[in-house]
Amino acid sequence: MSDSKPQEVTRRGFIAKIGKGLLAANVAGTLIKKAAAQLVVPEPPGRKLGWAIVGLGSLSINQILPAFAKCEKSKVVAFVSGHPDKASKLALRYGVDPKNIYNYQNYDSIKDNPEVDIIYIVLPNGMHAEYTVRGLQSGKHVLSEKPMANTPAECQQMIDAARKAHRKLMVAYRCRYEPYNQEAIRMAHSQELGPTQVILADAGFNIGDPNQWRLKKDLAGGGSLMDIGIYALNASRYLSGEEPVQANAMMYNSPGDPRFKEVEEHVNFQLRFPSGVLANCTSSYGYFPQSHYRVVGTKGWIEMDPATWYSGLRMRVHRGNSIEERELPQRDHFAAEMDHMSDCVIEDREPLTPGEEGLRDIKIITAIYEAARTGKTVELSESNHGRVSSRGNRGWFQDSPCSPYTLHHEGIREKEQKCLTRLEKTAA
Ligand code: NAD
Repeated sequence: MSDSKPQEVTRRGFIAKIGKGLLAANVAGTLIKKAAAQLVVPEPPGRKLGWAIVGLGSLSINQILPAFAKCEKSKVVAFVSGHPDKASKLALRYGVDPKNIYNYQNYDSIKDNPEVDIIYIVLPNGMHAEYTVRGLQSGKHVLSEKPMANTPAECQQMIDAARKAHRKLMVAYRCRYEPYNQEAIRMAHSQELGPTQVILADAGFNIGDPNQWRLKKDLAGGGSLMDIGIYALNASRYLSGEEPVQANAMMYNSPGDPRFKEVEEHVNFQLRFPSGVLANCTSSYGYFPQSHYRVVGTKGWIEMDPATWYSGLRMRVHRGNSIEERELPQRDHFAAEMDHMSDCVIEDREPLTPGEEGLRDIKIITAIYEAARTGKTVELSESNHGRVSSRGNRGWFQDSPCSPYTLHHEGIREKEQKCLTRLEKTAA
């Protein structure tokens, strides 16, 4: 899109100028020659993998289906829905063959459909595990929406099913695929503003209808933390590039509010990371929409507000005496994450946010709930990076093969285990 716009402007400029005389026409002639020289004819699309969308609710209809128009490597070819009328209408709009519409009962027969390469699970959280495992058992690769599942045990079942089927499993952490969050990660990990000391992160909104699935424990797994606070948690992890070793938390539900009979409203939580970075986070279903983080180093800070909305992200950087607003390309997060998944399948690479990444968040969420319930600090000693915590890991720089930067940006997940083994030996 950015390729075509400047050319249009140049052409319009030519038409306007030609009426103003020969001199102007000469100028315009030069302009149009330049425009012709700049004209870049896009390549025909390469191979696009076929995607099936499971669950045609708000996210699928408003974000995921429109995003296919911006995909280079992904196309929608099938739907799985409990509402045949809705699925048929969407099939007409997106050119999906009616024979590729499934329901939740005949879903498993998708295994016989060679047009489908990847299944995207966009159902209530409590259904992710079942539909992911069934999809993997059908021989398809699976992208599951966040949160990965209701419990660590369910996440593990999904990971095991992917291993057994030799198929890819990715969790839809869309912010990891868009330029603003990627730049914040790069800056924090490279310590441009000095080593990170503190991360502040807030994610929440004021939830409506008390009867929706997000407020039912079995379908949602929990309240605001599972749904939206997970963005603050995940950001603390990707910005620090470490795994937390301790969690503290406090929860509060407004008394008598019919929305919070089964799940929590507010959760404030604190995490301590091995290098000493501390994160202060809030998650809420009761406050005015917040999507914010600030990474505070010794020489400045990076702030994103909004940090995780679908569009309109903004970044400010305070360095020395000045605050700079950074402008980066705005990308469709869903197109970027779906194309990443297609790429991983085409090139047989591990996704940047595999099942293990979703499991880590759910384990930490479980610890946060435990900390809030008991009022005590919960140790997260089993987390991978936590094992090296006693030695600290500040000083993991971009050029180190074990640095979070290398692991995250080059997508070399396979190297992670080697690095951890090496670090564990060092720490022993
Ligand atoms: P939604 O309620 O709008 O859609 C859910 C879909 O599941 C509907 O089509 C519904 O018919 C279907 N469904 C099947 N069985 C159901 C049942 N028993 N109860 C309720 N619905 C049932 O929800 P959504 O906002 O589209 O969220 C779907 C998933 O996407 C959730 O896991 C959510 O966390 C995730 N999500 C992610 C983002 C993101 O930015 N990545 C944003 C919103 C939602």
